[in-house]
Amino acid sequence: MIRVVDPGLDVATLTRLQSYQSEVDGSGTYPMQVEAAARMYGARARNDRSPFREVRTLLRGMCSGVERCMYCEDAPANEVEHVRPKSLYPELAFHWENFLFACGPCNGPKGNRFKLFVPPGTTSEYEAARVSGAPVVAPPAGDSLLLDPRVDDPLEFFSLDLVGTFLFVERHPLGSRERRRAEYTLELLGLNRRDVLVRARRTAFHHLRNALRSYVVDRDNKAAPSELAAHAETVRNTSHATVWAEMKRQHTKIGKLNELFAAAPEALAWP
Ligand SMILES: [Zn+2]
Repeated sequence: MIRVVDPGLDVATLTRLQSYQSEVDGSGTYPMQVEAAARMYGARARNDRSPFREVRTLLRGMCSGVERCMYCEDAPANEVEHVRPKSLYPELAFHWENFLFACGPCNGPKGNRFKLFVPPGTTSEYEAARVSGAPVVAPPAGDSLLLDPRVDDPLEFFSLDLVGTFLFVERHPLGSRERRRAEYTLELLGLNRRDVLVRARRTAFHHLRNALRSYVVDRDNKAAPSELAAHAETVRNTSHATVWAEMKRQHTKIGKLNELFAAAPEALAWP
């Protein structure tokens, strides 16, 4: 999971989203807003009509690799994901900053689960997801545990073990909010639990290392600029962008990577 940069949605599309949001906000009591958010979102976002065509296009461009899911970085992203679930936060159903682009295997299990630190600023946790039959009331004010890659840099919260397990490892001490946010995010999205992701990160590492080696060989053999650029493009298009980010971040601590980046320091600037 890697930081997402928002280039900004165009004003016309934002305005249309805001008009949908105003309809939800104006639909009555909180339970009525929850119902309106589900109904209106279902009607307006589940096809390729504007403004969601523009929303999807921009989100796609914000993904890493070849349009990979913003959570797992593995599967093609194809679903607009609400960071704060619209069933709990109908006031964010059409809110651009609440949108990510994710895959079904990430979006589905996450569902409406959403933990908060309540009250804000504390370390006491509250599960905001509504159980079936529970009264439809707004969640209390609180800080999200789930990392939002638009706002948080996930790599400040965990690092990827590149020398053994290819698991994410929390970086903050036990008992801290940062530690709990990392643990909760990894658990909710299954980023360490899903073996397919772990194996894919390991494969990406070998693939990226080989791409860098090939680049060095080609560069030293005076290959054409287009051939050299193709190596950088391979790196950029490889799934699991976190692996490349961590290779750059950790290279001085891993002998073989250190040698490789010493031979091609320019690759440290490849995104
Ligand atoms: Zn995913």
